[in-house]
Amino acid sequence: MIPAGKPSNPQSNLMNRVVGAAEAALADHSYVSLIDVLCGMGLLSPNAAAAWRKGRIEFLEPEIQGSGEKISSSIEMFWRWAIEKGLKPSETDYVRRAPTGTVTLRFTRSGDPDLEKIFRIHFISAGLSEQKQKRIQEKLQQAPELVVLQVLSDAKCSECGAEVGRDSFLLMEAGQPLCLACARLDDLEFLPSGDAALTRRSAKHSQRMAVVVRFSRSRKRNERQGILVETSALEKAERECADDAEERAAVRARDAELRREEYRVLAAQMAQQIRSLFPGCPPPEAARIAEHTARRGSGRIGRTKAGRGLEEQALTLAVAAAIRHDHTNYDELLASGLDREGARRKVGERVEEILSKWRR
Ligand SMILES: [Zn+2]
Repeated sequence: MIPAGKPSNPQSNLMNRVVGAAEAALADHSYVSLIDVLCGMGLLSPNAAAAWRKGRIEFLEPEIQGSGEKISSSIEMFWRWAIEKGLKPSETDYVRRAPTGTVTLRFTRSGDPDLEKIFRIHFISAGLSEQKQKRIQEKLQQAPELVVLQVLSDAKCSECGAEVGRDSFLLMEAGQPLCLACARLDDLEFLPSGDAALTRRSAKHSQRMAVVVRFSRSRKRNERQGILVETSALEKAERECADDAEERAAVRARDAELRREEYRVLAAQMAQQIRSLFPGCPPPEAARIAEHTARRGSGRIGRTKAGRGLEEQALTLAVAAAIRHDHTNYDELLASGLDREGARRKVGERVEEILSKWRR
C-alpha cells in the first residue's frame, strides 16, 4: 500500500540507491567506479566481481542483475552525480596477471568500445592532492599478484594429469589446479621469504613473478612462503646484494643502535614514573622493572595519547608482577605444580601489601 498523499517515485528511489552506493564507495576509497555502484546497489554480487577480476569469469556484464532500462538509468544517474560533485574522471584498464603475462579484462561480450569505456572510468575525489590522485591511479593500474599454492596434500594437475605431491607448487586458474609446467611457470625459481632486500630486488628485476602461499591449518589463513622469480632476476639481485652487503649491514647496525637508544630513554622515563607512583620502591628495583617493561612494550607505551592514559595501569601491573616474582614464593608454587591462577590467588594478599607500602 502506498501511503496517501505521498506517491512513491521509482526514479527518485533509484537515484537514492545510486547516490548512496556511490557516496559509500567514495568515502571508503576516495574513488568510485561503476562496479562499486552496481555492487553497492545489489545489482552485482561482489563475489562475481572478484571472480571476474581473477579471470574465472570472462565477462562481467552478464552477471549484472536488473533490466537494461534500469541499468542504463543507473549509469546515467551515476555520471550526473559524479560530474555535479566535481569528481575527476580517470580511465584505467582492468588487468590481471596470467602465466603468459598481463591480460586486459573485458566487461562486455560485445566489446562495444563506448560501453567498455563506461566501465573503465573511475571518478576520483577532487579534494585529494595531486600525489594521492597519482597513487590511486597507479594502484588501479596494477594487476593483482599471481598466487601459487604450496599444497598440503597430493593433488592432480587438471590439464596434464600429473601428480602434484605434497609441498609442491600449484596454480589455481578458473578453479582448476594446474601444475607449474602447464601454468608455464616451471622455469621460475623459488626464493623463500627471509631476505627482504633480495626478495625486493628479485621481484623488481623479474618480468614474471608469482607469490607462493601455504595454508596454515592452525591460523586458518594463507601464509606467504616466498616468491617465484626468473633465474636471471635472482642472479642479478644476488649480485646487487653482495655489492652493498656492507652498506646494508651498517644501516642495520645503526637502526639497532637507534632502537636501543629508544629503549634506554623509554626505560628511564618509566623508572621515573614508577618512582613517582611508588615512592617506597627501591630505585634499583624501579629501574629493573622499567627496563623489563620497556623491552616488552617494544617502545609503544607512552607514544600515543591512549598509551599515556594506560600507563599508570600498565606500570602498576608491571610492578605487581615484579613483586610477585621477587618478593613472594610465587615461582616455587608454580614449580610445585600449582596453576597460575591458583598461585596468583595465594600470593595476592602479600603483593597488595607491598604495593600499598611502596605507594607511601
Ligand atoms: Zn600439468
